[in-house]
Amino acid sequence: MTEDSPSPYAAGAAYVDGRYMPVGQASIPLTDWGYRRSDVTYDVVGVWEGAFFRLDDHVRRFRASMDFLRMKPAESDDQIKEILERLVRLSGLRSAYVAMDCLRGVPAPGMPRHPAYARNYIAAFAVPWVSVAGADMCERGLHLMIAETRRIPPESVEPRVKNFHWGDLTRGQFEALDKGADFAVLLDADGNVTEGAGFNIFSITDGRVATPDRGALDGITRLSMIELCAELGIPCEVRPVSAAELRDADEIFACTTAGGVMPASRIDGRIMGNDRPGPISVLLRDRFWARRAEGWHATPIDYEKADP
Ligand code: PLP
Repeated sequence: MTEDSPSPYAAGAAYVDGRYMPVGQASIPLTDWGYRRSDVTYDVVGVWEGAFFRLDDHVRRFRASMDFLRMKPAESDDQIKEILERLVRLSGLRSAYVAMDCLRGVPAPGMPRHPAYARNYIAAFAVPWVSVAGADMCERGLHLMIAETRRIPPESVEPRVKNFHWGDLTRGQFEALDKGADFAVLLDADGNVTEGAGFNIFSITDGRVATPDRGALDGITRLSMIELCAELGIPCEVRPVSAAELRDADEIFACTTAGGVMPASRIDGRIMGNDRPGPISVLLRDRFWARRAEGWHATPIDYEKADP
């Protein structure tokens, strides 16, 4: 590839149902239930400095989501990992946002109009790394607000299955916009904290860290936080966190694959600490990136490998 002809994969690479292509050329049928009914599950794994972070955990969660939704694509877990690695290799990206989707598929011709008869398939892509919050926002601390909109109950849509039912989260994002906040945190029907649009939430009071036990995705970054608390000897509880506890917290942070650990400095207009990220949140954030620099849970990508 010469300088005059940049790689067609420079913007990212995609895989759809057995075929590889530049991400801008990827498409799915308009009649796919994945699109028409949000009948799809997905996962996102990050690549940082040429290595996947917790690849096995992401693919394991993806498989559990597909099983819950009774989706059976042709690809095995090992094949999915090979596809993701090949996508990153094609793109040449050292830092990437790598998504894997399983779509229900189109209604099967001549069969009852029921999702059970559709042929499920995998779509995936690797694009340059994205973060839900900008660097400035992370530096000053996120301004969070508790939304009026409640999170859809787990009895209706299981949040542990990563899904596209974002109506409540999107509505919360507009509530935050109207109130001048960066992000909304959604409560469940009982008034307990769940999560926000693409991130889990941790609350810190009197040196004790807590994160909700239900109503939210079992985030892989959240799992990393729980592990790092154990390493650092910081008490960490997985239990209901009420709206009142969050509003009165000493510190709060959000965490996600697309952004890492993002400390907050305000909640519902209240300034926490000195209007900057709090010390325990910063400790966990810094330890997270230090451990990652050491290769913690990393799967290096072989960029030189020849693909078929
Ligand atoms: N909650 C929701 C609704 C999400 O979409 C995400 C990630 O996209 C998270 C939490 C964080 O999960 P993870 O740390 O696995 O990226």
